[in-house]
Amino acid sequence: MFSAAQIKRLKTKPTPFFFYDTPLLLKTLQAMRKAAEKNNAEVHYALKANANKKILKIIQRFGFGADCVSGNEVSRAVECRFPSSKIVFAGVGKTDDDIINALKKNIACFNCESADEIKVINALAARMNKKANISIRINPNVNAHTHHYITTGLEENKFGINTWELPEVMQITGKCRHIVFTGLHFHIGSQVTEMGPYKTLCVRINELQRWFESRRIRLQSINVGGGLGVDYGKPDKNPVADFEGYLRIFKKFLELRPGQKLHCEPGRALVAQCGSLISRVLFVKKGRQSNFIILDAGMTELIRPALYQSHHKIENLTGPGRNKVVSYDVNGPVCESSDCFGKAIDLPETKRGDLIAIRSAGAYGESMALDYNLRPRAKSYMSEEI
Ligand SMILES: *Cc1c(COP(=O)(O)O)cnc(C)c1O
Repeated sequence: MFSAAQIKRLKTKPTPFFFYDTPLLLKTLQAMRKAAEKNNAEVHYALKANANKKILKIIQRFGFGADCVSGNEVSRAVECRFPSSKIVFAGVGKTDDDIINALKKNIACFNCESADEIKVINALAARMNKKANISIRINPNVNAHTHHYITTGLEENKFGINTWELPEVMQITGKCRHIVFTGLHFHIGSQVTEMGPYKTLCVRINELQRWFESRRIRLQSINVGGGLGVDYGKPDKNPVADFEGYLRIFKKFLELRPGQKLHCEPGRALVAQCGSLISRVLFVKKGRQSNFIILDAGMTELIRPALYQSHHKIENLTGPGRNKVVSYDVNGPVCESSDCFGKAIDLPETKRGDLIAIRSAGAYGESMALDYNLRPRAKSYMSEEI
């Protein structure tokens, strides 16, 4: 929600740009921290949702750790003062350079996704005369009931190690003298809006705990990954995700052993709602079936609609007060027909120069930006900078 004074100031900036509402970000982080303290969970923020330095510095102050999926993300987390003892490194394709970089920085843990990866980390750690903590990312074969491109915990997905591979993987790990096995990692998918899949995940983890116990292998930590969804349809009604309800599921259904730590890795739920992509209307034109709005922001700034058919709330910030409501297809300028933010969207009658806000763009917006069509990178402003 934007105040009249804010809109006046937004109008003075060249578009497109990302606008981040700092008070809402702080409120969200406070809610997460409170829920984590109450349910005894450790939070690692998933940098890939938004790695903007201004945002990372705020998140870091809350005492959260960082979940990284590339060598550059590990470096960015260190640069933004996340303690290396709170940095974990996941990803199905870690390069040797990524691994060496992370070993040099003494990160807390590698979340390993294949037997080959464990052998490579062991060899590189041996060369550096170090020991690497690892968790094994297990593919729990749980359906997250989200878009198939952001489902990650099914056996058909490339992520993690399948449970039937575990005996062999544990045997290999046992022989790696530069590896310290610390626990299990999971991540079933993103924009998960029902709690059912997390309950199923708990049941799978409980079974796995018994398997490890029967082999007398101790697990220090259980990392349940990220994925908690946000309300893209009603960002003003539900600006803060239900972190308490989410963590309560694990408290209730996950059978943690004494001394075991619960870790979680929210990305989207911490940053999505505080961000908006602000854009100007370049042209309004009539098609045979619909009216087209052409914006100066597109899939190069926010690729989610083109990539996952997702919907973001679209608002004309300069339109209120106009009586007539018109249905529009809201498009970006990029030379792809998928470069469209929404079809048949009712907006106040819209004109060239109007300011449009695409809401809930704080996660997987700026971090997924492209320079396709040689478009420049959009700037970003925190609310206090506007
Ligand atoms: C992407 C990812 C996350 C964060 O997912 P969100 O849906 O943004 O919460 C957490 N952990 C891992 C391993 C990931 O790949």
